[in-house]
Amino acid sequence: MVNGSASLRLISGVGAKGPACFVVEAAGRRLMLDLGEGPPPGQLPDVDGLGPIDAVVLSHGHKDHLGGLSLLAKLGNPPVYATEIVARSLPKGTPARALPLAGSGEVLGIAVETGRNGHAPGGVWLRFAIGDGLLYTGDISTESRLYAYDSPTAAAATALIDCSYGSYQKPIAQCWCAVAAFIERGPLLLPVPANGRGPELALEILRYGHTDIYVDEAMRSALRQLSGSDGASLRTGVDDDIKALVVTAKPIDGVRGVMLAASADGTSGATAKLLAQWQHTDEPAIVFTGYRAPDTPADRLIKSGRAQFLRWNVHPRLSDAVALVHAVHAQTVIPSFCDRSQLGGLADAFAPARVTMDGPVTISA
Ligand SMILES: [Zn+2]
Repeated sequence: MVNGSASLRLISGVGAKGPACFVVEAAGRRLMLDLGEGPPPGQLPDVDGLGPIDAVVLSHGHKDHLGGLSLLAKLGNPPVYATEIVARSLPKGTPARALPLAGSGEVLGIAVETGRNGHAPGGVWLRFAIGDGLLYTGDISTESRLYAYDSPTAAAATALIDCSYGSYQKPIAQCWCAVAAFIERGPLLLPVPANGRGPELALEILRYGHTDIYVDEAMRSALRQLSGSDGASLRTGVDDDIKALVVTAKPIDGVRGVMLAASADGTSGATAKLLAQWQHTDEPAIVFTGYRAPDTPADRLIKSGRAQFLRWNVHPRLSDAVALVHAVHAQTVIPSFCDRSQLGGLADAFAPARVTMDGPVTISA
């Protein structure tokens, strides 16, 4: 347990959607939690003047949490802690060190406990033994029927938690009903991230009894990895369905069935090519299900009416976040990845915890 004065600096990701980047100063060490890019391509945290960092700790492999690793040289080239699954996707030559997927480990001598985040392959939340406990959730979801979620239970007086959806409260079962209605209507393109929602949606579609499923190369490769080396991130009992998906899903070839392709916002990958082909046709229906950054193909096609938006939950609903705050007995809560306008509502929901979006935050001890 690290005692003495410790603080948390909110470099980016609090008060507005943006790349995740936070710095913990404790026991004479400076740990950076995540180093993301985006959502808009090229948006990086401002690390000028920050000085050397002793270690970067990654919560999961999404771009808005690790896409800023190009900044490592500016930080003194510190080691990068990540789970084995996330470490596999790091740029060659990254000085990686291992984090457990669920269990106890350490970062430069500071004890850390991790658990699976229910959100992405290899993704974890982290609870550091600093002061009376510091929890950083990265992105989490309690609702996934594909990715396993281990609830944090150890007390954490200070909690930096995923509030991407603010006060939103719709259960994922309702999201599914809306998607299913589109599947019934005819050919459908679902632009998705292959290392997140994509395989989740594919699993739901298969379980619904719909086998006319088509995927791009990124999705196929993600499904193969989930049936093998990424399997440790899955809920128990889904292995057979994932194996069935690998066999069932065919390559996308023309307008038919349900097609799942990356990227999620159409800026790159197979989706970009398919959207260029189909943006002026009536079919297939196009449904985006994730965060939509301004000036992306997703944003443009939704605004023009050619595509629809139906959210697929991959972050906690307000009630999930409240339950988490209670479970870890958080006294100070820093809601992350949402707009500052949510602060009042979240402060009411998390009371009597103190809720702030302003750093630096003293870590209670
Ligand atoms: Zn994520």
